[in-house]
Amino acid sequence: MRFSILGSGSAGNAALLVTEGARVLVDAGFSARRLGALLEPLGESLERIDAVFLTHEHGDHAAGLEGLKRFPHIRVFANDATARAVQAGLGHRPDWQIFQTGARFAFRDLQVESFAVPHDAQEPVGFRFTSGRDGDLFAPRRSLAWLTDLGHAPQNVRECIRECEVVVVESNHCPAMLQADTKRPWSTKQRISGRHGHLSNAAAGELLASVASPRWRRIYLTHLSRDCNSPAAVELALAGVRGALSACEFAVVGPGEGTPFYDLR
Ligand SMILES: [Zn+2]
Ligand SMILES: [Zn+2]
Repeated sequence: MRFSILGSGSAGNAALLVTEGARVLVDAGFSARRLGALLEPLGESLERIDAVFLTHEHGDHAAGLEGLKRFPHIRVFANDATARAVQAGLGHRPDWQIFQTGARFAFRDLQVESFAVPHDAQEPVGFRFTSGRDGDLFAPRRSLAWLTDLGHAPQNVRECIRECEVVVVESNHCPAMLQADTKRPWSTKQRISGRHGHLSNAAAGELLASVASPRWRRIYLTHLSRDCNSPAAVELALAGVRGALSACEFAVVGPGEGTPFYDLR
């Protein structure tokens, strides 16, 4: 399993997950042209992508769907409520593959699980992707959890990220920077910091510290607000949990940044 974050933050979110049998995007929050440009340095292209898995309908996760009409072979996995919300804004009909939140299903050599997350969208989800087999030297069983856009982390979310080697989690804002921000009205600040908004740096740290799985190898901190957060603020808030999880690598993904391929063997 190989994994790369193409981009992260309110300007757009998308990641590439490659297994022996599948090349998929997790979210498609950039224009198709931009997605193509982000894939190119990785030696990949939209022609080679098999499917997109959508967490929810917000533009920073689904804006690429319109331009993907030029790539009709790409299947789009979403739950019914998310698919309806996205479809309402499209001029074409993608090859929807509807799943039920919480159901487990296979796509080629990927096992996929979705789980509900609290966020102000129709039916937002996180994902856990697993490939490989226990005891297989060449393709051991490996899992990755994708968890962005949630106001708080209920118990089901904590369970879902425990049994994974890689966790991608949102560390959206620094509460002090959000309060001090002059661009956002009070109501927006309330929405962001609310129970159905986004995880703060401290909330991401608390989540990681409370689960602290010995299986974890790499944690990505993502979806950083450009105005109300910084990689330095995330580092500071996460210092304690980093010390406690010393065997685990941490990657703070700044707004607009991507990451090189991580090979999950
Ligand atoms: Zn969202
Ligand atoms: Zn988002």
